Amino acid sequence: MNENLKSADSRATYQQLINSGAFKPFFQPIVSLEDQRVVGFELLARRILPEGLIVSPAEFIPVMEQYGLLNELMTSLASQGFMTARTWPEHQFLSINVSPSQLNGKHLPDIIRKLGERYQFSLSRLRIEITETALIDDVETARAEIEALSEMGCMIAMDDFGTGCSSLAWLIQLPASTLKIDGSFIRSMLHKKDSRKIISSVVGLGRSLDMDVIAEGVETEEEAEMLRGIGCPYAQGYLFGRPIPAEETRNLLTAGSGSHIHRRVARMSLEQRAHQISSMYAAPDTSICFLSPELIVVDASDTFAARVGWPMQDITHRHIFEVIPSQAEKLLWLQDFRIKGLPYPPFEVKLPGGTIDLIMITQVEDEAKELLGFCIFGFNLDCKTRSVQP
Ligand code: C2E
Ligand code: CA
Ligand code: CA
Repeated sequence: MNENLKSADSRATYQQLINSGAFKPFFQPIVSLEDQRVVGFELLARRILPEGLIVSPAEFIPVMEQYGLLNELMTSLASQGFMTARTWPEHQFLSINVSPSQLNGKHLPDIIRKLGERYQFSLSRLRIEITETALIDDVETARAEIEALSEMGCMIAMDDFGTGCSSLAWLIQLPASTLKIDGSFIRSMLHKKDSRKIISSVVGLGRSLDMDVIAEGVETEEEAEMLRGIGCPYAQGYLFGRPIPAEETRNLLTAGSGSHIHRRVARMSLEQRAHQISSMYAAPDTSICFLSPELIVVDASDTFAARVGWPMQDITHRHIFEVIPSQAEKLLWLQDFRIKGLPYPPFEVKLPGGTIDLIMITQVEDEAKELLGFCIFGFNLDCKTRSVQP
C-alpha cells in the first residue's frame, strides 16, 4: 500500500464511511436441503463505492479490525439487518459474523441486547457465527461472552467447522447449537473421500448432539444431492442464492415458500451413524461410543476402547455395564432423566488410567423421534487446556 493510500485509509476515514452508510448488509439464503425452503439468511458485509462498485469484506474487515472499528461496523450492519429481518416471517433467522477481537472487548453482549431492544428484533431469531480461531487469544473472556449471548437467547454457530484442530474441545464447552461445515470440504467432496468422511462425521455429530448442521459453499446440484444422501439438513451457497441486498430478500421468501420439493433425506441406521462419527475420532482427547436402546455397544472409537481398558475387537456387542461396571450405578441414575424427558447432565468419570473424562450422553432418535440408541461422548479433561491453547 503506498503512503497516500495509507493516510486516506485512516481510522477517522473509516469511521466516517460507517457513519455515512457506505457499508451495507447483504443477505445470503440458508435453505433446508430437503425441500429448498429458505430458513434464514447470513448477513455478509459489503462496502458500496460511490460509483456503485461493491467491495468484498476480505478487503475491509482486516483494516477495521486493525483500527478497532469492528463493533461500530457491526452496530451499523446489525441495525440495518434487524430492520430487514423483522419484516420476514417469524420462523426465519438472521446470522451475523463476529470476529476474534469482538469477543475480547466485553461490549458485544451489551451492544446486541440494546440493538435488539431498539429495533424490536427478538434475539431468539439471531444466530451469532464464530470461528474457533476467534477464541484462542483469550479463552476465558471469549467463553464468558458467548455464554452471555446464549443466555440472552441468541443461537451460537461454529463457523468453518472442521478446519481447526480444537473444534471438538470447543464444541463440548460452548453452548453452540449450530455447526457450519466449511466450504473447502464441500468443494472437494466429489473427488476426495476424506472430505466426505469429515462431512458425514460432522452431520452425525450434529444429529447426536441435536444441533443444526449447515453445509457452506454449495455450488452444484451434484454436491447438494450428495449432501442429501449423507443426511445434511441445511445448506448455503451459490446454487441456492448469492448474497443479495435487503430489498430483494422478501422476493426470495415469497418465491421460496410455495415451491417445496419434498425430497426425503436418507434415513440412517444407528450403525451407519455410529460408524460415521467414530471414524472421525482418532483424536486422542475425545472418545465416542454408541449403544443400542438395550445398552449394547454398537460401535466405539479406538480411543473409547483404550480409555476403558478393553481391546477394540472385544468391546462391540457387549452390554455397557460389562464394559464399565464402575459406571453402572451412574447409568441407572441417568434413567431418571430419561423418564422425566430431561436432557442428561454431563458428568465426570475417573478412568482406570487415572485420567478424568467429561462424559456427555445423548439420545439418538430418528426423524420420527423413535429411539435408535445412545451416544456416549467422552472428553479427556486433562488434555483440554493443551488442545485449546497454542
Ligand atoms: P464466511 O462467514 O465463511 O462467509 C461465507 C463466504 O462464502 C462469504 O464470502 C460468501 O459470499 C461466500 N460464499 C457463499 N456461497 C458461496 C459459494 O457457493 N461458493 C463460494 N466460492 N463462496 C461462497 P464473503 O461475503 O466475501 O465474506 C468473507 C468472510 O468475511 C466471511 O466468511 C466472514 O468471515 C467475513 N465477514 C463477512 N461479513 C462480515 C461481518 O459483517 N463481520 C465480520 N466480522 N466478518 C464478516
Ligand atoms: Ca459466516
Ligand atoms: Ca464460513
